[in-house]
Amino acid sequence: MSQKQTLSFQAEVAQLLHLVTHSLYSNKDIFIRELVSNASDACDKLRFEALAEAALYEDAPNLEVRVEFDKAARTLTITDNGIGLSEKEAIENLGTIAKSGTREFMNRLSGDQKADAQLIGQFGVGFYSGFIVADKITVESRRAGLKPEEGVRWVSGGTGDFEVEAITREKRGTSVTLHLREDAADYLSNWKLKSIIGKYSDHISLPILMRKEEWKEGEEGKPGEMVVTDEWETVNKASALWSRPKKDITDEQYKEFYKTIAHDQQDPLAWSHNRVEGSTDYTQLLYVPAHAPFDLWNRDKPHGVKLYVRRVFIMDDAQALLPLYMRFVKGVVDSADLPLNVSRELLQESRDVKSIREGNTRRVLSMLEDLAANKPEDYAKFWAEFGAVLKEGLAEDFGNTERLAKLLRFASTTTDTVSVSLADYKARMKEGQEAIYYITAETAAGARNSPQLEVFRKKGIEVLLMTDRVDEWALNYLHEFDGTPMQSVARGAVDLGKLQDETEKKAAEEAAEAFKPLLAKLKEALKDKASDVRVTTRLVDSPACLVVSEGGMSLQLNRLLKQMGQ
Ligand code: ADP
Ligand code: MG
Repeated sequence: MSQKQTLSFQAEVAQLLHLVTHSLYSNKDIFIRELVSNASDACDKLRFEALAEAALYEDAPNLEVRVEFDKAARTLTITDNGIGLSEKEAIENLGTIAKSGTREFMNRLSGDQKADAQLIGQFGVGFYSGFIVADKITVESRRAGLKPEEGVRWVSGGTGDFEVEAITREKRGTSVTLHLREDAADYLSNWKLKSIIGKYSDHISLPILMRKEEWKEGEEGKPGEMVVTDEWETVNKASALWSRPKKDITDEQYKEFYKTIAHDQQDPLAWSHNRVEGSTDYTQLLYVPAHAPFDLWNRDKPHGVKLYVRRVFIMDDAQALLPLYMRFVKGVVDSADLPLNVSRELLQESRDVKSIREGNTRRVLSMLEDLAANKPEDYAKFWAEFGAVLKEGLAEDFGNTERLAKLLRFASTTTDTVSVSLADYKARMKEGQEAIYYITAETAAGARNSPQLEVFRKKGIEVLLMTDRVDEWALNYLHEFDGTPMQSVARGAVDLGKLQDETEKKAAEEAAEAFKPLLAKLKEALKDKASDVRVTTRLVDSPACLVVSEGGMSLQLNRLLKQMGQ
């Protein structure tokens, strides 16, 4: 028999626990959501492992979560018959911070309790949220497939350390018992727990069971009361949210579901829920968040779109289900056609997956188009958070260039906000103007003050200002919009076409002739630095400016590559 051991939490966990217990009172109820979702995850894991090893179900194939309380002992217990934990897993998973998200969260803590408490909402602290209401948590578990004697008990008061010991546990799965603080005794109520579960966990696809309560008349003139019986009842809908008909789902329920899967406290900007039938049948429920997560720029392992096959969770692999430039999207896809044992490799090759991915892409585009057309303020929010990511699509998704181009928004010489669409620009073009002009720079101020804009300003021609790092690269792939070419004002000899009047042209030609000897001298003097020197009509006040030859690498891109050490 192994004896009781006392182990220390990883330093970050201890720090996190301190924060949880000292500043997280604003929304205590979320601990239920976190613990129920862990129970549900554990059942998903069992179901997945059992695809290869059916014996893991033992004699309890019906997966479920039970919530019960003991008023006298002031405890609340959440039990699941999912995958369970071995002793080693309990030590590792409950004693250290394995999730990169939580670690990132720790790095961002500011020390300001209010700000930090808000952050916690964004990240979710999972299991540790139990310590918001409990001064001690006992976890008892046995992993599926292990012997009853190989169970584990894990106990902690939520400070520096925890205890683990081996126990015998017949039942597979995990019980988490919260020893509630005095001021959290109000959770010992059927009514309260049911309403929290209804709010946060109704979409969980497993049954969540609680004891039935019954009204008992008082005897001999005493008042009647509700008493807890031995019977259990299911208190949630117990069907996955996305599998229900749209008309039966409220906006509130859609939002709560989003918050659970996205670990986000804020409402999403938009969502779209559809049953798609065709060469492959699937259900998609996709969300556009209101703000960017901390790891938006990590293109390695996008996550947030979960793949289910007939309600069985398979994996969280956004990459197979959406193009990389839509990595901000969160949601669920449930396929009716894929095999349950689908592997990551198979995913990449499957024709069904390819068609799901294309269907999802189209759906996200139409969600954004809808937002842009009907809720411009929300679209502006979206653009500020994710516009730069969406632009990557110009370089990655040629099939949708036109739709993407319509979604682009820019700052320009006529507005201060990043709100000009290419269609707006075209509608405002001067008579005789034949191109959409743009300038790239590191900052909007830098773009606005560029001498390259002088002639445009003089002639009252609008120029789009591009200051995102991706602009230079992405715009290389957008040659025209709706038949009008895109033209960088920092490139080549900027042909103003019909906008240039004859006298100006003539003056320039004469000047070029007159300055020939000077140009030759300048060319000679700058021969290592410039490939050409010429007379221009583009300047009004400044004596000279740098431009890039037609087809040459732009100044911005040049700078970017230098920064990257190329
Ligand atoms: P997350 O759920 O995001 O991984 P949590 O803090 O909620 O993070 O949980 C930490 C880990 O503890 C889980 O990843 C899982 O390994 C383990 N765990 C928590 N609750 C359970 C449970 N009911 N059954 C099995 N494992 C659990
Ligand atoms: Mg969790």
